[in-house]
Amino acid sequence: MALIVQKFGGTSVADIDKIKNVAQKIINVKKAGNQVVVVLSAMAGETDRLIGLAHKAADSPDEREYDSLISTGEQVTVTLLAIVLNAMGYSARSFLGFQVKILTDKAYKKARISLIHTDAIKKELKKGTIIIVAGFQGVDKDNNITTLGRGGSDTSAVALAAALKADQCDIYTDVDGVYTTDPNVCNKARRLDKISYDEMLEMAMTGAKVLQPRSVEMAKKYDVPVYVKSTFTDKGGTLVTKEDKDMEREIISGVTYDRDQVKITIVHVPDKPGVAADIFSPLSEKNIFVDMIIQNASLEGYTDLTFTVSKKDLKDAQKIVESTAKKVGAKKVEVDDQVAKISIIGVGMASHSGVAAKMFKTLAKEGVNIMMISTSEIKISCIIQRKYTELAVMALHDAFNLEKKK
Ligand code: ADP
Ligand code: ASP
Ligand code: MG
Repeated sequence: MALIVQKFGGTSVADIDKIKNVAQKIINVKKAGNQVVVVLSAMAGETDRLIGLAHKAADSPDEREYDSLISTGEQVTVTLLAIVLNAMGYSARSFLGFQVKILTDKAYKKARISLIHTDAIKKELKKGTIIIVAGFQGVDKDNNITTLGRGGSDTSAVALAAALKADQCDIYTDVDGVYTTDPNVCNKARRLDKISYDEMLEMAMTGAKVLQPRSVEMAKKYDVPVYVKSTFTDKGGTLVTKEDKDMEREIISGVTYDRDQVKITIVHVPDKPGVAADIFSPLSEKNIFVDMIIQNASLEGYTDLTFTVSKKDLKDAQKIVESTAKKVGAKKVEVDDQVAKISIIGVGMASHSGVAAKMFKTLAKEGVNIMMISTSEIKISCIIQRKYTELAVMALHDAFNLEKKK
């Protein structure tokens, strides 16, 4: 008997009919003789609606209450699914994060799972019960409800699979696998049968929201085989797993985009030791993640410093940076909230030259200006104007021949 974790995303549980469809998929797996642990997201759009309410209620909502509020969408779906399954004659039981106990640290909005108590789930599994766990939420050691960051149900599912030593973790969503780029943006995108943890992690970190980055990190660490599948068809699927010899070792395996970026420039900063630390320390103290950074060449003892943060952090980051800019004697702070990050990913990149040049040439040919560049062993990212996102994705997908399987 295998133990299978099945996670269903927001569009898969968007209404009662869809929840009934999900129930049927679960029953099929159960009937095949498996033990089943299900993880659910909130109904599509519900978490956004709750976040909107919180910001209507206050400019800077109290973080503890905010997490309690935005976690409620998952309570609705897990209980509805349990009601449906029980009515269909299958014993099912819903669990909220604190009932499992999914223990996390105290970082509201982006908590990390530290430990999962599995006793309660195992006891019910033994009785043949279908377990339904609310994704996205946990509880800290003082019993405060925490949430795991947007898209966090993926991480709940993989973490549960790891803790329960499940045989596999199936992530059901509205596309039938991981593609060479977002299939909703580029109709030439090709589904991958398999992708390595490392490539998937880079893709997720650079914007491919099909899996939350933390879920891929965890799958890699605990060796959890993750299948990305469609809720709405039985075809396709992508296995996220360890790199192996027969895996396509493409130079480039994917193109990603992230429209969630804003660019901040501090103009005319004195170029002396300690200034960068003065600027970035207060941001990190506020848990604001700084992604790309460039510093221009120094001119007469002054330089410009540009970096990107997530859109949602702009208000806080701007306030902090304006105050530090004054302190360090910079001229002014400029914000550009119309940018996007476009990236190409591939494990084969490390051993091939000319990949970056090809990316830059392709963007130039389309008239897309590059504002910032960053690279890692298996990734090159550029900041461009947001309005060119789709154009750049399609041009790069073509240029690197991703449509065709080589
Ligand atoms: P869920 O609600 O099921 O968690 P998400 O919206 O979080 O679903 O993730 C699925 C979406 O990810 C798809 O609808 C697709 O638009 C997007 N996506 C972005 N990049 C990729 C990619 N490379 N492969 C597949 N889907 C991708
Ligand atoms: N409902 C949460 C969100 O919208 C978690 C998830 O869907 O994975 O971010
Ligand atoms: Mg998601």
